[in-house]
Amino acid sequence: LTETTAAAHGPRPLVGKAALVTGGSRGIGRAIALRLAADGAAVALTFRSGQDQADQVVKEIERAGGQGWAVRADSADAEEIRASVAGAVDRFGRLDILVNNAGIGVLGPFEGISLDDVDRVLWTNVRAPFLAAQAAAAHLTEGGRIISIGSCMAERVAFPGGTLYATSKAALTGLTKTLAKELGPRGITANLVHPGPIDTDMNPADGESAAMQAGLTALGVYGRGSDVAATVAHLAGDGGRYITGASIAVDGGFAA
Ligand code: NAD
Repeated sequence: LTETTAAAHGPRPLVGKAALVTGGSRGIGRAIALRLAADGAAVALTFRSGQDQADQVVKEIERAGGQGWAVRADSADAEEIRASVAGAVDRFGRLDILVNNAGIGVLGPFEGISLDDVDRVLWTNVRAPFLAAQAAAAHLTEGGRIISIGSCMAERVAFPGGTLYATSKAALTGLTKTLAKELGPRGITANLVHPGPIDTDMNPADGESAAMQAGLTALGVYGRGSDVAATVAHLAGDGGRYITGASIAVDGGFAA
């Protein structure tokens, strides 16, 4: 890792740290990757498809003087997940921050959810973060961070049609709280960030149910990926030193 560009960008609290962001090629993951890099971290980002988009994020990081690396890792493939963690460690010589961001949503009436849907959603939203955390934990040291992206639908708000997605995101609460206890003695924190409606491909602010979702927030508007990224950056930095096992909503008051 080099610190050569740190001075040019003002205070960069993550200089000297290395991060891995899953699903970092677009949406919330892209915003997180760019923010952690702007704060000085070297950032590895995984993608499943869309190598071009991932390469663009790396270019953007490099243009700003940072270090980025894109690696293909399908959340359904345990070996690719482990290889992405090992690759980030090889590339940057260390790993300090894991952000489990990649996720999918399948919404629809409970009785119509297929076994294939159940497998796809649970593998991507639960199995993959579990395996990534397991692989990362072997490399994290004092000050290490595991940050997962849940959903406001995981804990305090339920909607018809959300059984599978909510089930998968709620599982991250168990993972996060238990990891906080298991890894706490090593000085490693584990936290969950629960976004509300955020304008991305998954949930566009001009989509069918957008007005309804915005109306359910206290602020009356959609959030941006950068809103979620700001909280992730706080948790990743020294401000997150004494926060662990927590679920933090970034939802404009959706769950208020
Ligand atoms: P998005 O669809 O724009 O991006 C999802 C990301 O996950 C992409 O980078 C995609 O490549 C990656 N991904 C999906 N399946 C994958 C797989 N099998 N292997 C590897 N990567 C895979 O969605 P987003 O809105 O940016 O969502 C990011 C996270 O935020 C997800 O976990 C999502 O559940 C969560 N979230 C989003 C919202 C919202 O309103 N957008 C709200 C709550 C939670």
